[in-house]
Amino acid sequence: MEEELGMLEEKHLYRRIKVLESAQKSHVRYQGREMLMLASNSYLDLCDDVRVKEYAAKILMEYGTGSGGARLTTGTMRIHMELEAEISRFKGREAAMVFNTGFAANSGILPALCGEGDIIYSDARNHASIIDGCRMSKADTVIYKHNDMADLEEKILEHPGRWGVIVSDGVFSMDGDIVDLPGLVRLADTYGLLSMIDEAHATGVIGATGRGCEEYFHMEGKTDILMGTLSKAIGSEGGYVCGSRTLTEYLKNKARSYIFSTALSPVTIAAAKKALELMEEESWRVQKLQENVSWFCRCLQGLGIDAHSETAIVPIRIGNEERALQVSEKLMEQGYFIPAIRYPTVRKGEAMLRAALMATHTEEELAEAAQAIREAIVHCSEWAKKF
Ligand SMILES: *Cc1c(COP(=O)(O)O)cnc(C)c1O
Repeated sequence: MEEELGMLEEKHLYRRIKVLESAQKSHVRYQGREMLMLASNSYLDLCDDVRVKEYAAKILMEYGTGSGGARLTTGTMRIHMELEAEISRFKGREAAMVFNTGFAANSGILPALCGEGDIIYSDARNHASIIDGCRMSKADTVIYKHNDMADLEEKILEHPGRWGVIVSDGVFSMDGDIVDLPGLVRLADTYGLLSMIDEAHATGVIGATGRGCEEYFHMEGKTDILMGTLSKAIGSEGGYVCGSRTLTEYLKNKARSYIFSTALSPVTIAAAKKALELMEEESWRVQKLQENVSWFCRCLQGLGIDAHSETAIVPIRIGNEERALQVSEKLMEQGYFIPAIRYPTVRKGEAMLRAALMATHTEEELAEAAQAIREAIVHCSEWAKKF
């Protein structure tokens, strides 16, 4: 273990946790200082919302802390059912079910649906939880080129008559780009496969009212399996899947991560339910988030930095791992919380800064952050030239 850790350190791939001293919001306390948070997945800034906290506190006083059992034993309270009803309505589906995390959802759904002899077609940049779900399923996993529907079709044609699932992130978690949903659904329909989209970074972010990929492409109801998380824009915890009643009943009987794990606390569930309500009531949040993204990209472009995104994730490419770390450290010193993303999260030599925006960032804050990013990049490349 020590040898392995030493090697990670040498390659600038050693990971350390950063401890926050405040709630998750647009301004956080870190190492005794206030910083602008530009890395959080809490895109709508609802983790510390007083109405969410009050509702969660009310449910806490009524139902207590733990759920005391798995969903199918003693762990289901009325609030769990209410949240699932809200999610299925919000996503326009017959039914929804909540898993303990997004990771548990993906690693439970895929092995429940696919087994030996089946095929899972999986995008090359899918999230680790999808990759693990594929591995655990014992199905043959065929990786297609990132968001490349021509490559996907070629690969499907190499396996005529085989049944399976096409699975993709809706918004890719590192690059922030959006799946070609029309292309993917067309192929699934043409070849009799199920389509499954992971909306972890799409829900609350894309589509006019934050309903995700289908709303973005005006393709409501066209995906067979919509999976997502309550841990990102919704600001709580948990994963969910929406689809037909048959799908959710099947998964409740087959998905091991659902069956053999204690249900989420009523407090967490209550927070998610309130946040979902607020997201719909306060439509300015999704709109402002989308405006912030285009403003921030324009600021960076104006400073000569290549930045494009239609989602809350704005990748700023650096390449070298050590350099990316230096730029990130420089920004931390300046009060900007923007981490470097390195292998194995992204490929070797493709290290980047991954900025994530919130609905509550102001234009002024974002313009200043863009300036600071440019200065940090220039500073670190000049420093590198001296050696
Ligand atoms: C974060 C994420 C998950 C996992 O969700 P958690 O609720 O954090 O476990 C799954 N898929 C994607 C694409 C993600 O970004």
